[in-house]
Amino acid sequence: MNPLREALAAGRFCYVVELVASRLAREARILDVAARLASCPGVVAGSVTSYAGGAPGHDPMRVGTAARARGLTPNIHLTCVGQDRHGLRKTLEDLHALGIENVFAMTGDYPTAPVGENRPPAEYDLDSVQLVALIALLRRAGMPFHIAVAVSPFKYTESDCVYQYLKLEKKIAAGADLAITQLGYDARKFRELQRYLDERGVRTPVLGNVYVLNQRGAEKMAKGEPPGCWVAPELLEAVRRESAVKDGGQAARLERAARMVAILRGLGYAGAYVGGTHDAGQIAWIIQRAEALAPRWEEFAAELTYAPRGGFYLYEGGGRRPRPGRGFAPVALNLLGRLFPVQRETWLRRLLRGLFGWVDRHPLLAKGLERVEMGIKGPAFGCHACGNCVLGHMEYVCPQTCPKQMRNGPCGGAHLGRCEVVDKPCIWGPVYERATAADRLADLRVYIPPPDRHLQGTSSWINYFLERDSRPGR
Ligand code: SF4
Repeated sequence: MNPLREALAAGRFCYVVELVASRLAREARILDVAARLASCPGVVAGSVTSYAGGAPGHDPMRVGTAARARGLTPNIHLTCVGQDRHGLRKTLEDLHALGIENVFAMTGDYPTAPVGENRPPAEYDLDSVQLVALIALLRRAGMPFHIAVAVSPFKYTESDCVYQYLKLEKKIAAGADLAITQLGYDARKFRELQRYLDERGVRTPVLGNVYVLNQRGAEKMAKGEPPGCWVAPELLEAVRRESAVKDGGQAARLERAARMVAILRGLGYAGAYVGGTHDAGQIAWIIQRAEALAPRWEEFAAELTYAPRGGFYLYEGGGRRPRPGRGFAPVALNLLGRLFPVQRETWLRRLLRGLFGWVDRHPLLAKGLERVEMGIKGPAFGCHACGNCVLGHMEYVCPQTCPKQMRNGPCGGAHLGRCEVVDKPCIWGPVYERATAADRLADLRVYIPPPDRHLQGTSSWINYFLERDSRPGR
């Protein structure tokens, strides 16, 4: 029995409640909450976080198993932080052995823990799309996982926003069963996502994030913490005003949450993903109140408009900036590719295969070629010699220059085109702009598999012609 899967299949509006298993929360308390939520009508799962905000917490598998023993079906967050594909596979096999089906697959926040013994590596072997593909592979092998993925419609530049939607399509194509939005307080964006999926005939259910926002949370999010969560100055002001009253703003924030649930119901969302409170009484109140408010959802939607000024909306025309051209290098390299085609079996490809095969049989020459390649691609693209070149699939932007080394689109942490990890533009902005300029947006939907890490430090040219690398189609 999996109440989450059943509610979605039946089209019954449902609630998943986030259980933040951070180090600061006592595990016994989380389990007590789980026991109370289990008897809360409408709640079909507890979503147990992992690496929330970039810091390791309690083991989500242990917490999830214990929550299930208390009657609450777990939805286990599985991030790509600090585990390579083998570790992730092992975790999934363990989840299956425990009879846990629901997995929330995501890339994960960049680790924020201080340098020290337990500092997790800031390396990402897989991205979230590749993780979904891995889970789907195990599902085909008989492990009946139900895969949830994240999407953020609350992006206010064109590239951030459209790429989120493109990436969601990739996740669904890879095997996702359910999408859950990042938090945000903008009904126009909730509506935009729903329309995007409707227009493409995508029937994958979506849960809208309803975060019960207190003053402390609002103040952090107003500064962009944790990454991907953003609160507008006007909302921060409103929360501060609400918090000045006798109950500390509790009534107002619960009312806001209930109104957001009413909006989601009205828009046709499959359910709500409720966070920001571990109080089962408050969750039950929100659910009841939302039902009472349901007929007024459009009125509330018109009021929930917390967004940056001049932000981009896909269907409303605003926030679009002049589109830069594709740039010299992508145009020239594409032209070169057309003049000297090597992607098909041509005489040139056969010649180069023979030549690179010969070089490969002479280790010193192969190393020398790798150095030459690096000497060209390092300054030109910031190449890290991963050995599995996908520049041609990413508009000549190197994925290894992304701090999370993602190959299938931006994470949810970028804000107004800036990277969540380092103070520079998100690398996926130029990928989107160049693809749009070349009218090749559809190519960005192509799945890029994880690199073969054994090829690190070798020539990607040799690997390409000897068919050793990992790239789309291989
Ligand atoms: S994808 Fe790999 S080989 Fe290609 S430029 Fe980036 S690091 Fe270098």
